[in-house]
Amino acid sequence: MANNQKSLDTAFFGHPRGLSTLFFTETWERFSYYGMRAILLFYMYFAVTKGGLGMDQVTAASIMSIYGALVYLSGVVGGWLADRIWGSRKTVFYGGVLIMFGHIALSLPFGKQALLVSIALIVIGTGLLKPNVSSMVGNLYSENDRRRDAGFSIYLFGINLGAAIAPWAVPWAASGFGLNLFHGQMNFHVGFALAAFGMFFGLVQYSIDGRKFLSKDGLTPDDPISHEQLRPVIFRTLAVVAGFAIILLIMAAFDQLTINNVITIITIIAIGLPVYYFVLMLKSKKVTKVEKKRVAAYIPLFLSAVIFWIIQESGSVVLALFAEERTILHLGAWHFAAANFQTLNPIFMMMLTPLFAYLWDRIKHHPSAAHMFAAALVFAGLSYAFMALPGLIHGTTAGRVSPFWLVGSWFLVELGEVTLSPVGLSITAGFAPKAFKSQMMSMYFLANAAGQAVNAQIVKFYSSATEVQYFLIIGALGVIVGLVLVIFSKKIQAIADTE
Ligand code: GLU
Ligand code: ASP
Repeated sequence: MANNQKSLDTAFFGHPRGLSTLFFTETWERFSYYGMRAILLFYMYFAVTKGGLGMDQVTAASIMSIYGALVYLSGVVGGWLADRIWGSRKTVFYGGVLIMFGHIALSLPFGKQALLVSIALIVIGTGLLKPNVSSMVGNLYSENDRRRDAGFSIYLFGINLGAAIAPWAVPWAASGFGLNLFHGQMNFHVGFALAAFGMFFGLVQYSIDGRKFLSKDGLTPDDPISHEQLRPVIFRTLAVVAGFAIILLIMAAFDQLTINNVITIITIIAIGLPVYYFVLMLKSKKVTKVEKKRVAAYIPLFLSAVIFWIIQESGSVVLALFAEERTILHLGAWHFAAANFQTLNPIFMMMLTPLFAYLWDRIKHHPSAAHMFAAALVFAGLSYAFMALPGLIHGTTAGRVSPFWLVGSWFLVELGEVTLSPVGLSITAGFAPKAFKSQMMSMYFLANAAGQAVNAQIVKFYSSATEVQYFLIIGALGVIVGLVLVIFSKKIQAIADTE
């Protein structure tokens, strides 16, 4: 009966009405997240006299990346809490509330302390919210409902809609709504306040519509934890927290408790966690021989995804710096801000996704997942190699270059993202051993986390003086790994197909 109801509901573009609730929840949540990120880098390193925190630029860039890594790392915990304790509906709501308070913290004039509180709230909040909204989208459809993939594409559109509007709206608020309220300066706090409002609208919409249109299943956990099971979990969690606190204390004792060292530790955790999962799956007695082969075949795909996200996620760090320092910020009489460039990624994604879906429907022989990952990597690599050209042609000391370099680069990397994203999740599900189904799904987000954790280390080498080498080396790495993946794609596919 429940399944029948699911499949009968066509109220939102032929999809269940609940999809609209989740669509707009994510639109507003991503509006707040990407709006905040569009100005956060500049808020951190701009001089105090310009409304910033006056941090060192290299540290600010590194924080941007490690922050992004943490946001996807925490999803592992969020998925678990929903499955075992709160159910997805409440977990998402709590997450949204934390996120809103995270933005509110930054909207108050409390400097670096507020930044730290905000990062903590948004990391935990997004971990609670994001993976669970995605799984609720999946749950709108019965198992064999063929609309599910299309449902995810529509949902991805919602994500990118929020991500596209925010880099206009939030910098506009921060610059005084075009009214010169702040005398040509930025008031970043006003921008962060708008991000908080965004999350507030999302929460209101989610609560009111959710009650009407979301299934009651999400109100309880799928696999509720018993008291006996809970105790070791609490114990282990406390042990991890204590271990982390001890490490920090030791670092403090040796006068090594610096932002950079903390970032390095998080980098190690973000890279170590997927390695740990892979070893666990390859060694587990619950995993069959064939499944182990599949896990092994998934490893090159995972590594490719990490490299892809290294390039894609650097858009809000490296390309943002390029926009601020090396790009002409007007076209004729039309002036824009460096933060506005962040709109290009989601705009291209929204334009290219329908085109991609159309082509996908038309071609007879679909390329294998390994081929898709390879293509994505080559596009990403080219997007970086492309960014080496302005420096090569005009030199890096000659001043600013045309904004079309960035436009072209984002176009290329988004060709990659529309190739990778839709297959990424389903292939991860396909390679997952039965006993590790849910953990394996968080693996997909761990690829992004690991990529951003690597960025937290390598963005330190980026500056106008090194840009040509930086873009060329990483770009070449993307293209070469993509080509190597093509060579092994037959083998990988053969293993994936074995029953
Ligand atoms: N850019 C996408 C978003 O914000 C997600 C990136 C990913 O799939 O890891 O939702
Ligand atoms: N394209 C990214 C995500 O899908 C959004 C962004 O990075 O702005 O969805």
